[in-house]
Amino acid sequence: MPETIQVLLDETRSFPPSAEFVEQANLSDPGIYDHANGDPVAFWEGWAGALDWVERWHTALEWNPPNAKWFLGGKLNACHNCVDRHLGGPRSAKRAIVWEGEPGDTREITYHELRDEVCRVANSLKELGVGKGDRVCLYMPMVPELAITMLACARIGAPHSVVFGGFSAESLWERINDLQAKLLVTADGGWRRGHIVPLKHIADQALAMGCPSIEKVLVMNRAGVPGTLTNGVPTPDYATGVWNEQIDVRWSDLVPRQPKECPCEPMDSEDLLFVLYTSGSTGKPKGIVHTTGGYLTQVLATTKWVFDLKEQDVFWCTADIGWVTGHSYVVYGPMANASTVVMYEGTPDTPDKDRFWRVIERHKVSVLYTAPTAIRTFMKWGAEYPDRCDLSSLRLLGTVGEPINPEAWIWYHETIGKRQCPVVDTWWQTETGAILITPMPGIVATKPGSATRPFPGIGAAIMDDGGHDVSADHIGRVRAGLRPAPVGGFLVLTRPWPAMTRGIYGDPQRFFDTYWARFPGRYFTGDGAKLDEDGYFWLLGRVDDVMLVAGHNISTMEVESALVDHPAVAEAAVIGRAHEIKGQAIAAFVIIRSSHVASEALTEELKSHVAAKIGPIARPDDVIVAAELPKTRSGKIMRRLLRDVAEGRALGDTTTLADPAVVAALKDKYEDKES
Ligand code: AMP
Repeated sequence: MPETIQVLLDETRSFPPSAEFVEQANLSDPGIYDHANGDPVAFWEGWAGALDWVERWHTALEWNPPNAKWFLGGKLNACHNCVDRHLGGPRSAKRAIVWEGEPGDTREITYHELRDEVCRVANSLKELGVGKGDRVCLYMPMVPELAITMLACARIGAPHSVVFGGFSAESLWERINDLQAKLLVTADGGWRRGHIVPLKHIADQALAMGCPSIEKVLVMNRAGVPGTLTNGVPTPDYATGVWNEQIDVRWSDLVPRQPKECPCEPMDSEDLLFVLYTSGSTGKPKGIVHTTGGYLTQVLATTKWVFDLKEQDVFWCTADIGWVTGHSYVVYGPMANASTVVMYEGTPDTPDKDRFWRVIERHKVSVLYTAPTAIRTFMKWGAEYPDRCDLSSLRLLGTVGEPINPEAWIWYHETIGKRQCPVVDTWWQTETGAILITPMPGIVATKPGSATRPFPGIGAAIMDDGGHDVSADHIGRVRAGLRPAPVGGFLVLTRPWPAMTRGIYGDPQRFFDTYWARFPGRYFTGDGAKLDEDGYFWLLGRVDDVMLVAGHNISTMEVESALVDHPAVAEAAVIGRAHEIKGQAIAAFVIIRSSHVASEALTEELKSHVAAKIGPIARPDDVIVAAELPKTRSGKIMRRLLRDVAEGRALGDTTTLADPAVVAALKDKYEDKES
């Protein structure tokens, strides 16, 4: 990329926290930023001190770039901190997990019951030969047993690796082997959109491809083994897969007979807590390593402050536990805070498109944390679904996963939050472990589409292609009240933070090359960002997606936001395709709302709308109306495949696509348009 990313979109709406919110907020003093940034290590030590330690650390931070170690010499146990330490008082009877299965079955588990169940599973793991340091792979549906098994692993010091239940046999096989996992924990199946995903069957296929490190497979009964009914639904035999008496162990034979006492293993602060794989855009997935003390410190802090968490809150992070968001904000963060966590097994449209809103109404959810892709889908479905339900329990809304288009932000704020709830747009990554850029809801005025400011203690900066920090001077001028013109570039992190990844499992060179080689001493996020006149951060998407049009670097996110701003557009994905004269031309794939009809006139109108909103340079050459957009299983748009479509190439790797048919349909449509 020759230059720095251009800044085009100008979003001026701003929402200061209401006086009522500030009054009750956990944090309302803006002085916290200067305090934390004045001595970040001491700031994080303060948070670490809020955990239970078997032995206190002697050194808070050892920093040999790119290797950080936090709270050296300290010993603690993550499960103890998320479960046992809450017991003995009124929190024993507090609900830890409120769960809904997709067919409508529900369960509530108190912190006391959670402890008993975690101990039984921990003892089961031991009986199966799992000890401290052994890796355990989890391939399970969104059921309480998934969280329970993670905590059981943490209890005995066995690192876990959760593989999302939507991944294929090949993905599971690849991860098991990279990790050399000793045990696989799975289920007969899980419910998704009214069907059973046959997890055991898929796991059998993975094992058949060769997983020599696996000694046993622990199989829980979720969807129903033959002869059992779940909520009156007859269960097909295929859900069980093929039973192999040599290695398969039934959860129901092993777990219930275990004692409900199991000591917590004291772990070094830097001992491995889990490995979570992220699919890089190319090459094999990266096993992102997270350790114990620093990770737990930062998820504790961010859950408490970003979500303004209170004792009585009912917290629902809708992410699957197979993603990092589920690790940090379904399990470890909320549970370290003794919060009540909602978990839901299935899809938002089962049995109807109001399912999320029904869950909120039924369980009086007060904090909702979801993804822009879900919000855009809800917008497309229309307000009638949330409007049917009582959402008055909500008091704070969060988003994560992608840049949120301002119009989607406004819809979330108005239609779901009824203008009463602050919206926190939280930027972070699997590698960062915890939220890094986000508003503090009691302090920072939010702007739709901006993740606002680094969390206290976090150092973030923007670099140009020449390796110059363009943000330091900018922030200086913001502080002097000069309202400097926005600057754009590459987002980096300038100092270590406790939850940062400790590396890529088994591949230190790839770790260095991916994150630390480009800007020495600084962590390169791979994202583009801009800083506005007020010093707010705006995330512009992955830099691989940035377009180069007639010498201008244009962010896909800004053009997409301009399109979604048009009343006819529900969702948009924008790419740069090769163009003889301009280098790249902008092609936009749009989903039209059901209230509008696609036509030549409308596509022309959309092109003009973008040009009017952000400038003629960003006028799309092509606007293609699509029924669906290609997305990863975590809901991120795969622009790489859209580029293949637009440039008439054979499609690249499609294995991480949620639905490969979507991109095939787009290819046909694009070719029709060209001919
Ligand atoms: P993952 O590691 O799969 O969670 O993906 C991390 C990436 O998602 C980041 O590098 C960003 O590109 C994107 N992302 C996550 N949260 C946000 C957000 N709030 N705003 C913009 N992009 C985000």
